[in-house]
Amino acid sequence: MKILIFGAPGVGKGTQAKILSKKLHIPHISTGDILRAAANSKTELGLKAKAIMDAGELVPDDVMGGIIKETLNDEKTRSGFILDGFPRTIEQAEILNKVLNELGENHLILISIAADDELIINRLSERRECTVCHTIVNLIFLNDENVCPNCGSKDTFIKRKDDDADVIKNRLKVFHRNTAPVLSFYEDKAKLINVDGTKPVEQVTDDILNQLNLN
Ligand code: AMP
Repeated sequence: MKILIFGAPGVGKGTQAKILSKKLHIPHISTGDILRAAANSKTELGLKAKAIMDAGELVPDDVMGGIIKETLNDEKTRSGFILDGFPRTIEQAEILNKVLNELGENHLILISIAADDELIINRLSERRECTVCHTIVNLIFLNDENVCPNCGSKDTFIKRKDDDADVIKNRLKVFHRNTAPVLSFYEDKAKLINVDGTKPVEQVTDDILNQLNLN
């Protein structure tokens, strides 16, 4: 199964992609995670990308196209994948189309998760990242001990730079301007699944699995 998971920053793409990746036994590819890993290892690409990410802007399409081409040409993604955070522009959608056509794989499922900006701003400003395992947790789910529910580390949570209020606003602006139009690009190119991202995580997953006829 080849799945694109689509929606505004903070709508829950990463959370659902991780759950679906485990359930469907297909790799989760997050372009944000790839860029953050490059930034942490201080590669040339990573350092350039970090400044762009911290400002809430988009890394150039040709750079992202190169990353996606390399990733999808890997054996591990042959039987399927969940792509999270790509494509974010029409240009990237065209690059992806080309790469998949070359690989002879063009049956795509696009899961679009929706929520309004106000809810997203609230969610992102309450989001924290564990610096050890990079799990993202909402403040309301952190216990008093401040222990990571994934790796058990204590007091390792930070706010991502791009989750600062001004950057969140810019990321949403960029989403509405550059990324939202990608949805109509796929209207006749993918099976579209629409879900309500304001519901609790488990309900969103159920809704997706029902629409995929997998529940
Ligand atoms: P994410 O973790 O998906 O929210 O991505 C974090 C940041 O990485 C974004 O705000 C962008 O700066 C950058 N990024 C991730 N994916 C892409 C992409 N497909 N195109 C351009 N920039 C991206």
